Amino acid sequence: MNAFTASNHDATTHIAQSQRLIDPPLEIRLRKAQRMLELTWPDGAQSRISCLTLRRACACSNCQRLQQTGALTLIDAEVGVNRLELSGISGLQLYFSDGHFRGLYPWAYLRDLGDPA
Ligand SMILES: [Zn+2]
Repeated sequence: MNAFTASNHDATTHIAQSQRLIDPPLEIRLRKAQRMLELTWPDGAQSRISCLTLRRACACSNCQRLQQTGALTLIDAEVGVNRLELSGISGLQLYFSDGHFRGLYPWAYLRDLGDPA
């Protein structure tokens, strides 16, 4: 028998801070007409992130390879998000209108993207 089996109630949450595992948003709204993703966080903060910003931050294998080789990436300023899916409890997967869909957007990453620079 596995001596380390524990119920969810016993799970420690200490790692949460250091790993930047933040609580998922209460609400996620994709405003397709405005090409804007709106998130409402448990602490009441709201993030508005344009699809263009999200697309620029795409971390799919294709985009990462381009960044590593220093290649110029052409992104349509009109790019939109066709669809979004929850990726487990850790974040969102976004399906862009230009075909990129392999990038994962963890909650903390989304929150950072939405904060004013
Ligand atoms: Zn990409």
